[in-house]
Amino acid sequence: MKSDYVEHHLQEKRHFPPPYSETAYIRNQKQYEEMYSRSLSDPDEFWLEMSNSLEWIREPEVAGKFLWSTEKNEIKHTWFEDGVLNVSANCLDRHLEHRSRQAAIVWQGDEDKNWQIIDYETLHKEVCRFANVLKTFNIKKGDRVCLYMPMVPELAIAMLACARIGAIHSVVFGGFSAESLSHRIEDSGCKLLVTANEGIRGGKKIPLKQIVDAALPASPSIESVIVLRRTVEPCSMKSGRDYWYHEYMDKAATECEPEPMEAEDPLFILYTSGSTGKPKGVVHTQAGYLLHASLSHRTIFDIQKDDIYWCTADLGWVTGHSYVVYGPLANGTTTLMFEGIPTYPDPGRCWQVVEKHRVTKFYTAPTAIRTLISHGESWPKKYDTSSLKLLGTVGEPINPETWMWYYEVIGKGKTPVVDTWWQTETGGILISPMPYCHTLKPGSAIKPFFGVEPIILREDGTECDIDEGGSLCIKKPWPGMMRTTWGNHQAFIDTYFSTYKDVYFTGDGARKDEEGDYWLLGRIDDVVNISGHRLGTAEIESALVEHEAVAEAAVVPVPDEVKGQGLYAFVTLVDTAESSHEITIELIMLLKREIGPIADMKYIQYTPRLPKTRSGKIMRRVLRKIAENDLENIGDISTLAEPELVKTLYQQRKNNEPILR
Ligand code: ATP
Ligand code: MG
Repeated sequence: MKSDYVEHHLQEKRHFPPPYSETAYIRNQKQYEEMYSRSLSDPDEFWLEMSNSLEWIREPEVAGKFLWSTEKNEIKHTWFEDGVLNVSANCLDRHLEHRSRQAAIVWQGDEDKNWQIIDYETLHKEVCRFANVLKTFNIKKGDRVCLYMPMVPELAIAMLACARIGAIHSVVFGGFSAESLSHRIEDSGCKLLVTANEGIRGGKKIPLKQIVDAALPASPSIESVIVLRRTVEPCSMKSGRDYWYHEYMDKAATECEPEPMEAEDPLFILYTSGSTGKPKGVVHTQAGYLLHASLSHRTIFDIQKDDIYWCTADLGWVTGHSYVVYGPLANGTTTLMFEGIPTYPDPGRCWQVVEKHRVTKFYTAPTAIRTLISHGESWPKKYDTSSLKLLGTVGEPINPETWMWYYEVIGKGKTPVVDTWWQTETGGILISPMPYCHTLKPGSAIKPFFGVEPIILREDGTECDIDEGGSLCIKKPWPGMMRTTWGNHQAFIDTYFSTYKDVYFTGDGARKDEEGDYWLLGRIDDVVNISGHRLGTAEIESALVEHEAVAEAAVVPVPDEVKGQGLYAFVTLVDTAESSHEITIELIMLLKREIGPIADMKYIQYTPRLPKTRSGKIMRRVLRKIAENDLENIGDISTLAEPELVKTLYQQRKNNEPILR
């Protein structure tokens, strides 16, 4: 049975064949197919061979072992379990012989004048120093350390220092409230907290230490706090609990033996963004994670020796872990860390940074691209972005029009765009094109990564046909797959393995086209059911954004007496447009034309901004409640970047203000 779920995306027929590259890791379709099929038919041999790219203290003899049985309530998988290694040694020590003077981190501060280059030798010393500081504070293998910091090199240093001594880090995005911070500290029982007096982002100061002070009365597991002086602003220091970073670093030795770690010892805990509900404490282990992060980074971004690679993600999210720190450093890459935001001091910032540091590979989120589109093409045109060779996106479905803008305006139609689909849970990219190998299609994440076997299921658990949308699941574990949710393995099983039998349920909708390419359709819960027709909200939003006045749109269902559900759209317009009855009519017509008569919009609410998580994702569950006029059951909004916006939207809704129909 074919659903209407995917009709709109089916109309997207543009194809862009890959450019040729003599030096690419994966040069053609045949090479990819050979490697991919070997990764499925002989995973042990394939992954043991790939694991040679890591430096082991004891080489593994076994690759993957797993039991995924929903019926037995047993979900367990391990990778390279007899192997021993140290992640920080893989990211640092092994590069010292040939790359000691090469930039490991290029740090670009919020203010343009603040920037810094840290070479591999210096980074190694700083990490050793901080590892020794952690030891002074009695941090041992297996202890949890919470890192609540701004986007400064010291955060990467602290992560690697934890990895060096075998402590488990839990990075909490430096923008969360005291309550969110203490929840995360308590859930994982962190002993030590590393923070800064203040953070700076987009010209605004964030009083991190003050927030910490408010969080700690509810976080009794914390014994000490190490405070980095990021700005000159004073902050309160509680004697016997709070200590200055620089005072300890100055005294610390620059050598620290890396702790030999079992492959399956935990490396870090990271909480999901909280777009769909309460954040989950995802646990990743050492070797499998590092191999997946580094191999996917090397091949998908086709990392070469002279690359200046920039991923805009904050280290508070998994993208920052895998593709700013661990993947790039394991590959000996120069990774750019950016403290600022794309619109400060103006919407030309990203391109100015690209020009300044001669960035070659650029990886960001669709939400950032859509924001930049809304400010017009004049901004990227001001700067020389000719150093760019490859562009990437992650975080949300990218609608074809946004993809085209990125490809044409930023990439000048020459650089491949890799739309990479993955999750905190998956550790690294699971579906993405290989840039010099696959034909690109705007809006499609193309092909599975090595070892990844996706399957798209109907509600009844049977497999979908070609072009039929359904639930995206993965059949078998891959090395970077999360192992458990911290302290609650049953929650892990319930969340990911109870919807379908013996497969990992991603929570996302997808379809596979006749060429075997994957199209992500948004969260499976975000499907709207109108008179029995299932429509994915991502495709409706994608159609709305095609209108030149629309910068961003989020669509949610509202109850409808006749049709079961109707469409309610929240729409943000570009800088130069203003909401009007004409635009509303045009949008209604556009949907009917692009999706079909079934996509009849009930309401459009114009809003200056959409409520987003701090990781930049539109929070549709909040919009659903606003659309339903139900503020009482709004749920947890602590992961929202602008919680105040909810009230404004709700008020508008109540007053029927910008709602047009
Ligand atoms: P929570 O699980 O707490 O609700 P979250 O799912 O937003 O939060 P993340 O792990 O940061 O937390 O995000 C992963 C999700 O982001 C994916 O499940 C998917 O919905 C979306 N996503 C990521 N990359 C892509 C992509 N390339 N195309 C489509 N969707 C994507
Ligand atoms: Mg999720």
